[in-house]
Amino acid sequence: MDRKKLVLIGNGMAGMNTVETILKLSDRKFDITVFGSEPHPNYNRILLSSVLAGSARVEDIVINPLEWYAENGIRLHTGETVTAVDPASRTLRTDKGRTEAYDELILATGSLPFMLPLPGADKEGVIAFRDIKDCETMIETAKHHRKAAVIGGGLLGLEAARGLLNLGMEVSVIHICDYLMERQLDAPASKMLRAELERQGMSFLLSKQTKAILGDARVTGVEFADGTSVDADLVVMAVGIRPNVSLAKESGIGVNRGIVVNDYMQTDQPHIYAVGECAEHNGMVYGLVAPLYEQGAVLAKTLCGTETPPYRGSVLSTKLKVSGVDVFSAGEFVDGEDTQAVCVHDEWNGVYKKVLLRNRRIIGGVLFGDTSEGSTLFRLIRTGAEMTPELHASLVGGPSAKSGAPVNAAAAMAPDELICGCNGVTKETIVRAIREQGLTSVDAVKGCTGASRSCGGCKPLVGQLLEHVLGDGFETPVKETVCSCTTLSRDELVEAIREKRLTHMREVMNVLGWSTEEGCSKCRPALNYYLAMVWPDEYEDAKASRFVNERMHANIQHNGTYSVVPRMYGGVTSPSELRRIADAAEKYGVKMVKVTGGQRLDLLGVKKEDLPSIWADLDMPSGWAYGKALRTVKTCVGADFCRFGTQNSIQMGIDIEKKYERLNTPAKVKMAVSGCPRNCAESGIKDLGVVAVDGGWELYAGGNGGVKLRGGDLLCKVKTSEEVMDITGAYLQFYRETGNYGERTSEWVVRIGLDTIREAVVENTANRQALLTRVEKVLEKLTDPWKDVINNRPKYADLYDGISVASE
Ligand SMILES: Cc1cc2nc3c(=O)[nH]c(=O)nc-3n(C[C@H](O)[C@H](O)[C@H](O)COP(=O)(O)OP(=O)(O)OC[C@H]3O[C@@H](n4cnc5c(N)ncnc54)[C@H](O)[C@@H]3O)c2cc1C
Ligand code: SF4
Repeated sequence: MDRKKLVLIGNGMAGMNTVETILKLSDRKFDITVFGSEPHPNYNRILLSSVLAGSARVEDIVINPLEWYAENGIRLHTGETVTAVDPASRTLRTDKGRTEAYDELILATGSLPFMLPLPGADKEGVIAFRDIKDCETMIETAKHHRKAAVIGGGLLGLEAARGLLNLGMEVSVIHICDYLMERQLDAPASKMLRAELERQGMSFLLSKQTKAILGDARVTGVEFADGTSVDADLVVMAVGIRPNVSLAKESGIGVNRGIVVNDYMQTDQPHIYAVGECAEHNGMVYGLVAPLYEQGAVLAKTLCGTETPPYRGSVLSTKLKVSGVDVFSAGEFVDGEDTQAVCVHDEWNGVYKKVLLRNRRIIGGVLFGDTSEGSTLFRLIRTGAEMTPELHASLVGGPSAKSGAPVNAAAAMAPDELICGCNGVTKETIVRAIREQGLTSVDAVKGCTGASRSCGGCKPLVGQLLEHVLGDGFETPVKETVCSCTTLSRDELVEAIREKRLTHMREVMNVLGWSTEEGCSKCRPALNYYLAMVWPDEYEDAKASRFVNERMHANIQHNGTYSVVPRMYGGVTSPSELRRIADAAEKYGVKMVKVTGGQRLDLLGVKKEDLPSIWADLDMPSGWAYGKALRTVKTCVGADFCRFGTQNSIQMGIDIEKKYERLNTPAKVKMAVSGCPRNCAESGIKDLGVVAVDGGWELYAGGNGGVKLRGGDLLCKVKTSEEVMDITGAYLQFYRETGNYGERTSEWVVRIGLDTIREAVVENTANRQALLTRVEKVLEKLTDPWKDVINNRPKYADLYDGISVASE
């Protein structure tokens, strides 16, 4: 059978979700071609906010990689714009001169950001927030400029502002109304939101009408109608979107505000459909993904000839994706003559909840500070549920809360209803995954189906569904134990060590019921680390529990000899050090002297019994090239020598290394300091990377240049070297206290979240100080292990067999 030719214009979320549904319904019905103006495969536009905020990378937000298209037989033309459609001949043309025929055509051209037509709006540095390119421009601009102005105090503007703050910029949000997110929030919720965002560092210019963009070639500020102005090196316009209808209009397809469609997403031209933000249904144009997926489901079924109820419009719900702020809004929220409101307004705890009723039925609501009931509320709004005492208790709490039975909204949902609006995942998809894949946790459902991958608002619903499907089998996520000798997880173990004041390894094993007498090679070094971390004063290192390299303070090589790496602070050495190294290399028959990636010299092929003597001859501290500790702080030449350098990166690196050398950490830590954003010291792929920028320093966390390559996340921007030093100390101590033994910071940052780390070591200054006090205490006790051996050879004679005690 000849397959019909289906062409999709617009490789965005709505169009591609429709195609995915078509493939699920019938993978052989259509021969599919997709055109997309952007040069990328299909990506999750919602998560651009996360890319900007530093919690995701561009590659993390790709929904369907290029291979997926190939595997599904889809021809994808990226970076190619369709310029004309001819409904009569059923053909289209592109800007690359291609002509393509179709049997069925879907228009999913999305929206264009609305740019205020202000004088100066075409200056360099004035952008929108719509696509990957905008995100990259903001990230790049933040490296060289300090002040940003975001025009628009709605959802998008606030997410842009939060991202720019994370990039270290000073951010002013300009809004024409006197309160934020006025289309989703009422005045009390908006006031609480503003207070929280101000606490996070945003400034607001409300009731301001922009008049002009100031500057020459590049923007320098924004002028207002009242004569005032604000400085800005970057202006982000987030004032709304317009359905992208020009192609449809010029091709003679019926257009109003959007491309007009009926209840089956058909336009006024045969075989042409529209879906997504470009479509107008029943006078409504939508700008959130959940409705677009609902439209896509109807269109996919229509095209595949599967029976479907018509599309009747959507109820909207909104969640702001700004860390530390929980806001949910759905349906109507403005009081009217015929509405009644159920409210909790608790400014002490920062919680606001409002549920709006008409004729006792739930028609909308706003939640601030506690949005755990958001999905339940949304479902009740969609179904027009009647308020009951149980629902009242469950939604707004209060005195009757305890008597109210918990409501499992997910259980009552129809199989094809969307649980995750952002990713278009239905109840039946999740239920099937839970049953067929044996999933038992929200994270597992997220990994398997994508539900809750974006805004996270549906997590409670996914939890309810797990509870509903598994009943008693619903467990909290499967626990990872330290090793098979114990049933305890890392956190439980550390907590028990603290609580029960356990200070010896044997004590831990006895009291906490280890299943083996001596432990194993996995738990012994881990226990040794955790005990030393919890009790830095009293715990005596159990050397025998360490791996051989750490016991010997040198790295064993494949032929049984060792490598010796002396410390060279910041990669800097001197003629006298080099002379000593050269002499020692000759004296002990070193096979090779190698410059390492960490900017120091490695003496390879040293015999075990020569180790203490070569250390003595070198008269340099141990470089800890063998340990789970701070290894190196790589530096570039910096401002003293390089014409691009803005700060003395060498001195910064030396100071950091001198201060934090020897500090034991869960896994090795590599650092770097670069004198400018050219980043010659590769600070972006270090456990903690420092980069000098105009007027300060940026710190990047969780980078890794090894097996699992990972770019560091921007942790913060600070002004002074003292702050760099303090945040480094707090960061290392927080990693020491919360990292799993053996876990590199690149995994740790992902596991516990950049926001948590930022809060602990940057934003919460009292906590930062407490971490610093604890790290100082540890640093006080640290000594150089090579010197210890040299000064106490009798004690170490057994370890470095062949040492002649008498000769010294
Ligand atoms: C930063 C940000 C955060 C957001 N957060 C949320 C959120 O939290 N929740 C939510 O529900 N929604 C959110 N949204 C909105 C959501 O992303 C959009 O509703 C959704 O992406 C629209 O999908 P679409 O396919 O209709 O349009 P788009 O995703 O815009 O896709 C349209 C595609 O068509 C291409 N195109 C246009 N014309 C042509 C042509 N002639 N030829 C070829 N290609 C063409 C465009 O280049 C574009 O790639 C957010 C949006 C942004 C920008
Ligand atoms: S990072 Fe900057 S200062 Fe350092 S060497 Fe490179 S260009 Fe020079």
